[in-house]
Amino acid sequence: MPTKWYDSKVIRIKDETPTTKRFWLKIEDEEIFDFKAGQFVTMDLPIGDKRRDRWRSYSIANPPDRTNVLEFCIVHLDGGTATEYLFNELELGGTVRFKGPDGGFVLPENIKNDLVFVCTGTGVAPFRSMILDLQNQGKPHQNIHLIFGTRRHDGILYQQEFEQLLEKMPGFRYSVALSREDKVEKNGYLFDISKGYVHPVYMADYKNLRPDIEFYLCGWTQMVDEAVANLIVKMGYDRTQVKYELYG
Ligand SMILES: Cc1cc2nc3c(=O)[nH]c(=O)nc-3n(C[C@H](O)[C@H](O)[C@H](O)COP(=O)(O)OP(=O)(O)OC[C@H]3O[C@@H](n4cnc5c(N)ncnc54)[C@H](O)[C@@H]3O)c2cc1C
Repeated sequence: MPTKWYDSKVIRIKDETPTTKRFWLKIEDEEIFDFKAGQFVTMDLPIGDKRRDRWRSYSIANPPDRTNVLEFCIVHLDGGTATEYLFNELELGGTVRFKGPDGGFVLPENIKNDLVFVCTGTGVAPFRSMILDLQNQGKPHQNIHLIFGTRRHDGILYQQEFEQLLEKMPGFRYSVALSREDKVEKNGYLFDISKGYVHPVYMADYKNLRPDIEFYLCGWTQMVDEAVANLIVKMGYDRTQVKYELYG
């Protein structure tokens, strides 16, 4: 089947942190755009002649709700061709063409194991989609531990939402690791907070090997490679217990 491309309109843009924006795109198609929580789309942006220069993938950050509105959470990279365009040129009412959904970074139909989600920055996007989907659909699940890393307090994404879930989603746990703060304050936060990278958090909490646990990792190569090596080589988890999505 030929690839189907969708045209969408930018209906909302929100500054989320000093370097991150949330974008909402409304698909201009009668047909319902269906996807699984955790999947991504590939945008064809007007930033080059060759298709490999123009295409960039972004995880869908909202859960499937049949509204044909998709949310994306994107970090600006200094000198990054696509993000310079998305942050400085794309405006409300502008159009974005994309294909998808794609990707196998999704949860199983029947969730039998505890889930540990490890991410840094906008790597949280597929996990937000998955967690909200479980919550919205009332799907059965075991414990879910979201471990989110960023540099400073002002980089914490979707903080309020996850704090609210701590109060209403049974088995949900939320930990934040801040790598560049000299001092980490509890600040009245409802979640666990620590100074440093995400790695010591899961290495301490899951040091006793368990067969009934699955790790999902999402973000940039450096963090994901290190987490895969820690979990499989250093800690001894089986390869089948570790799944990941690489952003680049
Ligand atoms: C499946 C998939 C889903 C993705 N989902 C998201 C998403 O939801 N949100 C999001 O913000 N991005 C996401 N990305 C990354 C996105 O596709 C682009 O790569 C990113 O926006 C940079 O594009 P650019 O053109 O601005 O930078 P480019 O001009 O392509 O240059 C970026 C270069 O810097 C490196 N780099 C980029 N960012 C970082 C970083 N933070 N740390 C270290 N090195 C970096 C890249 O590997 C690349 O070499 C996803 C990527 C994939 C493959």
